[in-house]
Amino acid sequence: ILNVHNLKKSFSSGSRLLTVLHDISFDVEEKETFAIVGPSGSGKTTLLGLCAGLDKPDSGSIELCGTGLTALSEDERAVLRNQKVGFVFQDFQLLPTLTALENVAVPLELQGARNASEVGKDLLEKVGLGGRFDHYPSQLSGGEQQRVAVARAFSNRPTILFADEPTGNLDAETGEKIIELLFELNKQAGTTLIIVTHDLELAKMTQRILHLKGGKIVETHEQH
Ligand code: ATP
Repeated sequence: ILNVHNLKKSFSSGSRLLTVLHDISFDVEEKETFAIVGPSGSGKTTLLGLCAGLDKPDSGSIELCGTGLTALSEDERAVLRNQKVGFVFQDFQLLPTLTALENVAVPLELQGARNASEVGKDLLEKVGLGGRFDHYPSQLSGGEQQRVAVARAFSNRPTILFADEPTGNLDAETGEKIIELLFELNKQAGTTLIIVTHDLELAKMTQRILHLKGGKIVETHEQH
């Protein structure tokens, strides 16, 4: 479902060019659960963003759900993301002026869905926030906000979900609940999960772990 081939990405820092990813290649199968681990600064977030079509590599190719990303314009990548991709950010990235329900339903409405509100209510109920439709992010705990973010990420029924440190800002117990939720949705809907994490316990729950160091793959570890 995801084929990454000889990916390279650099950022300019002042007059210097900093190569963040060197020659990265790997494949992820449909319905697989896959973790990307590695020290801070190893390029995990950059790699996730490229795979989800949020940014473009300098060279190399990425095929996501059968479509080559590198040949697409920014708008075309956005359309593909709306159709196929969910993304959960470490800092939730909810819109503070929208309620929990609006955070889930408004993106769907913008994509032209007629039943956005019903879908949003359904999803919030699934993540255990049935009574919180009208609460604003500031009225929710960190774990509750991340659950809204998970509901939003699932609102377009993505084929593949990318999660960047989904438990990074949560206490252990709340983090476990979010993880349970992600894996449950993988089981129920067959959504492919790609998770960037520092948490080795979480990584061990996935089927495969990719270890990144200094922008290079040091190991890919098959677990079950
Ligand atoms: P962490 O675990 O700390 O989140 P990471 O493994 O996710 O780290 P990245 O966020 O991918 O690492 O960053 C890799 C390197 O690329 C870092 O040195 C970072 O400073 C640099 N970098 C990332 N994005 C940019 C950017 N937009 N402009 C310049 N440098 C960047």
